[in-house]
Amino acid sequence: SGLKKYFPIQAGLLRRTIGYVKAIDDVSFQLGKGETLGIVGESGCGKSTLGRMIMRVLEPSEGSIIFDDQDLTRLRGQKLRAQRQKFQMVFQDPYASLNPKMKVADILAEPLIVNGLMDRKEAAGQVGQLLKRVGLREGDAQKYPHEFSGGQRQRVGIARALSLSPKLIVADEAVSALDVSIQAQILNLMMDLKKDFDLSYMFISHNLAVVRHISDRVGVMYLGHMVEIGEKTSLFQSPLHPYTQALLSSSPVAKRDSERKKIILQGEVPSPANPPSGCPFHTRCPKVTESCKSIRPAMQEVAPGHAVACHLYEFKGE
Ligand code: SF4
Ligand code: MG
Repeated sequence: SGLKKYFPIQAGLLRRTIGYVKAIDDVSFQLGKGETLGIVGESGCGKSTLGRMIMRVLEPSEGSIIFDDQDLTRLRGQKLRAQRQKFQMVFQDPYASLNPKMKVADILAEPLIVNGLMDRKEAAGQVGQLLKRVGLREGDAQKYPHEFSGGQRQRVGIARALSLSPKLIVADEAVSALDVSIQAQILNLMMDLKKDFDLSYMFISHNLAVVRHISDRVGVMYLGHMVEIGEKTSLFQSPLHPYTQALLSSSPVAKRDSERKKIILQGEVPSPANPPSGCPFHTRCPKVTESCKSIRPAMQEVAPGHAVACHLYEFKGE
């Protein structure tokens, strides 16, 4: 709720703060138990920063993260560590996120042992179970990351995320580095695991087809803001925000829904160090009006479960 992440811009010998990069600027949303929330947007829109804040590996500048009635941003030390176990992350590049010098057995056992959940012997048994659950063989535990294909490595990454019995997995471009045929396998695996383990996912991706496949709800980000959020079908079939409309119009997957014409956006995404006043999208919006330049639109629900931040949808019925 009200999440912000401002990175200070420092200059001079004294490293005086001369401004801020507003990577995330006042983002609020809910993610339900057992739900997959897709987060889409172009690179640099703040998707990963948002995911890392939810994971509490990045400290928010402002706002709260409420999980099971507890504000995670206020927890410290042991209490935070206990909650952190329930949040795990799956990364884009399994190769970079797995220690190349460790056998898979140790990669998977380590979190269990470090968190004091199991001794070495118990953990070894658990590793075999985890590997089978993600479609690998028990014997794979004795291999090193380089002995696997990209898809298999991502299975190891998923097994590692599962090892601490999380409630939420934040997947950041989890299949983006994989071949298309392998992507589908990993997505289907993740969907199966979600059911079996009663997981929730925050699924971050620039790939609309992938997000459409896996998500229940989808949030669209632009320049550190959440501009629209809604049920997958509603969002893909009737996108409301001019940015979402443009984003979907450029994707062949989304276009099947209607005879949508490709909307070409003018100009570049502005710098988050110097974001526009008013609506963050006003410098590129085909429907911009005078008030958009000074008044920032608030997120509001315009259809059940479908919210948008755009002046076009305000004051309905007046
Ligand atoms: Fe476009 Fe104005 Fe809506 Fe922003 S508020 S998306 S500039 S119409
Ligand atoms: Mg990213």
